[in-house]
Amino acid sequence: MSEVVKYSREGEIGVITVNYPPVNALSHAVRSGLMSALSQGQSDDAAKALLLVCDGRTFVAGADIREFGKPMQEPGLAAVIDAVESSDKPVVAAIHGTALGGGLELALGCHYRVALASAKVGLPEVKLGLLPGAGGTQRLPRLTGARKALEMITTGDFVSAGDALTAGIVDAVELGNDARAVGLAFAGEVVADNLPVRRVRDLNDQLAADKGSDVFEQFRAGLTKKARGLFSPFKCVDAVEAAFTLSFADGMKRERELFMECMDSPQRAGLVHAFFAEREVSKVPGLPADTPVRDINSVGIVGAGTMGGGIAMNFVNVGIPVYLLEVKQEALDKGVAIIRKNYENSAKKGRITQDQVEERMALIRPTLAYTDFSDVDLVIEAVFENMAVKKEIFGQLDKVCKPGAILASNTSTLDIDEIASATQRPEDVVGMHFFSPANVMKLLENVRGSKTSDEVKASVMAMAKRIKKVGVLVGNCYGFVGNRMLHQRGAEATALVNEGATPQQVDKVLTDLGFPMGQFAMSDLAGIDIGYSIRKERRKNGEDIPASWLDKLAEQGRLGQKTQAGVYKYEEGNRKPIPDPDVDALIAEFRKEQGITPREITDQEILERCMYVMVNEGAKILEEGVAARPLDIDITWIYGYGFPAYRGGPMFWADQVGVKTIYDTVKRFHDTVGGKQWKPAALLERLAADGKTFGEL
Ligand code: NAD
Repeated sequence: MSEVVKYSREGEIGVITVNYPPVNALSHAVRSGLMSALSQGQSDDAAKALLLVCDGRTFVAGADIREFGKPMQEPGLAAVIDAVESSDKPVVAAIHGTALGGGLELALGCHYRVALASAKVGLPEVKLGLLPGAGGTQRLPRLTGARKALEMITTGDFVSAGDALTAGIVDAVELGNDARAVGLAFAGEVVADNLPVRRVRDLNDQLAADKGSDVFEQFRAGLTKKARGLFSPFKCVDAVEAAFTLSFADGMKRERELFMECMDSPQRAGLVHAFFAEREVSKVPGLPADTPVRDINSVGIVGAGTMGGGIAMNFVNVGIPVYLLEVKQEALDKGVAIIRKNYENSAKKGRITQDQVEERMALIRPTLAYTDFSDVDLVIEAVFENMAVKKEIFGQLDKVCKPGAILASNTSTLDIDEIASATQRPEDVVGMHFFSPANVMKLLENVRGSKTSDEVKASVMAMAKRIKKVGVLVGNCYGFVGNRMLHQRGAEATALVNEGATPQQVDKVLTDLGFPMGQFAMSDLAGIDIGYSIRKERRKNGEDIPASWLDKLAEQGRLGQKTQAGVYKYEEGNRKPIPDPDVDALIAEFRKEQGITPREITDQEILERCMYVMVNEGAKILEEGVAARPLDIDITWIYGYGFPAYRGGPMFWADQVGVKTIYDTVKRFHDTVGGKQWKPAALLERLAADGKTFGEL
């Protein structure tokens, strides 16, 4: 008898119990165990109804990721569900935890469903570029009607037990935490009331209600915006629509075909890579999993500006009190007021309650005195990007903070080792690079200095999880991983405009690739002055930074969205970039000054120059060990810069384009465009020569 699925009987109820930790995933053992337990139940004459229930923390929570990419062993899930649904004895599913993906599909194959109030259900396949392929798209709309099924299947979002009851997905919701007892009671009623076998595949009322309505067209129209560039959400709509136009059996066939189209799509590969990479990124090579982490129960933040305020919100959101320090009362008041305004806005949108606004604000302790930092466990400095100021602050922190406190900087470009040198405890100093807006963006680039201790590295990675960020541990260099690559893309994009492209042409190539915004729309968002002051600083340090039409914009006070004019112009209260003929004239004038005759630039050249330069830089970053693995770069770009997850991140994308193709083009640009950014990375050259991919590293 199967180890993981057991059959037993309690009175008149035959109980099928799945026990396959940690999440009762639908492995081969579970699928075949379900088949045999089901047939035992069928032949057990004393059993009048069957109950399907799971041990452990959850009902079946989906496919077994350990079997991903391997050939499917019979019985397939659809066959198991068909057998359950075909049972002549009523089958009741008792749901606790999360019934997800194949787990919910299995429950939909049962004749009745009862859930604990704490349970959640959902069909998240779309998040991996797929659609529910075991009848989910055919059965769910038969219970909920078209709209709810489309919403759940195209977003992959979970719904609570209460919502599932309202939507008709479950038949009853019960309090308590004993799914087995709740299930037995429900199955007992099924027997006592002689309730019939109720097969979802035979229910037609909901289908009739939506047949011929324009809900599918409406949904597709909505998705062109919400799911821009994505493949599988549209296939999900096709599959659900099939439930309304075909018989159940033909609908199942159509679902299978559409599922296979998704399986074969490169987007699925990208999304699956992103999914696994996100899990892998927290396991840092060379940092043992049992490295002790420090307790962090209070935080000090220096600087209550754009970043400091956003960073503070992350901590108070999870109940960690924050001392927020500024030099002047006025700046402090301003910073605190912005935090309050952000929370008030969330409350207005119904995301948090007014009580929560007050609870969170109460955890913010504004201060002008470093002595308030004497007992905090972690300090994050977020003042102006200026080495002298930062060093002075770290000297101060060294004096006031208790031994063992972690001292972090949110610098985007400065040398962590030099900052650490201002203290007597460089082992406790680390970079914690948040992205703007810091309360929203999921990436936390944790930067290790040469002396940062393992304990501190492990602690900041653990902290990332606690504040619901995706932490990536990277090495110390100019711009670290993300901005270092971004700077290369930015320089190339700017040069392309020098040579003849328009900013909107460059941006369109990037948004067509799936970025939410292009290079120049992003510069306008961040502020044209930021890049300008960095370039000025670098020129002062003797670096050879070419003149740029962007400098002219900054000098004219066109600083981006904040002045309603930058590379684009903006209407009051609207963030939509509008191409501006004044900027075209400024660019034309710049070209004249520089003696450049503009030429026609193809979209393909823009794509290659903007993207391959990043891949080449990424390869250098890997060579130098600044990023440990290609997946660290991929996750940085997906969560910090909106790289389309369905393309898997820049290094995964490079493998899909072909390392050799990229190498050859990089070499060509080295000869034609020139500049050290086009010097092929040795790693890229080696992989191309060996016919290998980044994924194989
Ligand atoms: P900001 O100008 O909005 O805020 C800086 C704040 O620090 C100001 O409120 C200022 O009053 C305060 N400050 C200055 N000197 C101080 C001192 N000695 N003691 C206490 N407070 C002091 O700047 P920002 O955009 O929040 O950037 C802060 C840091 O974050 C910089 O290192 C920047 O490179 C980095 N960063 C910025 C972004 C971004 O997009 N803005 C993203 C990531 C990282």
